[in-house]
Amino acid sequence: MKKVLDKGYVRLVDKMGSDLSIVNAARVSFDKESYALNEKDESLIAYLIREGHTSPFRHANMQFEIYSPLMMARQHWKHVVGSDHTMDSWNESSRRYVTEVPEFYIPSPAEWRGAPEDSKQGSGENLPESKGKNWTEAIQLHAELSENLYNQAMTDGVCAEQARLFLPAYGLYIRYYWSASLQSVLHFLDQRLDLHAQKEIQVYAEAVEVYVVQEFPAVYEAWRKAHEPNAK
Ligand SMILES: Cc1cc2nc3c(=O)[nH]c(=O)nc-3n(C[C@H](O)[C@H](O)[C@H](O)COP(=O)(O)OP(=O)(O)OC[C@H]3O[C@@H](n4cnc5c(N)ncnc54)[C@H](O)[C@@H]3O)c2cc1C
Repeated sequence: MKKVLDKGYVRLVDKMGSDLSIVNAARVSFDKESYALNEKDESLIAYLIREGHTSPFRHANMQFEIYSPLMMARQHWKHVVGSDHTMDSWNESSRRYVTEVPEFYIPSPAEWRGAPEDSKQGSGENLPESKGKNWTEAIQLHAELSENLYNQAMTDGVCAEQARLFLPAYGLYIRYYWSASLQSVLHFLDQRLDLHAQKEIQVYAEAVEVYVVQEFPAVYEAWRKAHEPNAK
């Protein structure tokens, strides 16, 4: 499990395939199969990535459990192409039925960012910690007040699916399963490791990246090289 932000994490639950799955899927039309990855296989993977031959990368899949603030999950959810081209590969805890203790993302005093100079960017430089401290205290108080109302409503007989309206949604942590083909996972990394992505989703992408390196080292290496500034 890779810890992310103050309370979040990314965990690889399961995976299907390896670097060889991509190689063998690509070579099926030549009726050839590799049993141990060799240099030719690595070159083939690099060629497939370079030329945008994406379908072999859909023969490998990754399943993650992710615990993230809802504002990050909403961004992640926009990646609609999963393992089977539908959103079926996403399930999350909705708080309709389960009333587990709510947890909120509370940025530390050093983590607050200022408004950007360019309005097309999401944020600018970090704010001074002295200012950040006020906002960390304020958001903590806000979360406590909201959680109190949430609990009071349920104690008074309000159903959980409505009581959750009291929880400040953007910072509320939710747990979800995300399954996607390796192609989709790489596409997610393309977009969300990028410096234009929101900082908080970049750190989730970095955790996903660690598992891609671990499970598909040759694919990852070829993908990384294709992203070097002077590639192609
Ligand atoms: C920095 C940044 C800022 C963003 N800001 C916003 C925002 O303000 N508001 C907002 O709503 N979203 C925003 N997004 C989300 C963005 O618009 C995409 O929805 C998201 O990044 C998923 O990318 P995708 O559609 O390529 O991925 P996927 O949905 O996983 O799709 C993968 C690929 O499949 C193909 N594809 C998918 N669906 C179709 C289709 N129906 N028809 C044909 N081809 C298809 C496309 O080639 C696509 O690239 C932002 C994303 C980033 C990275």
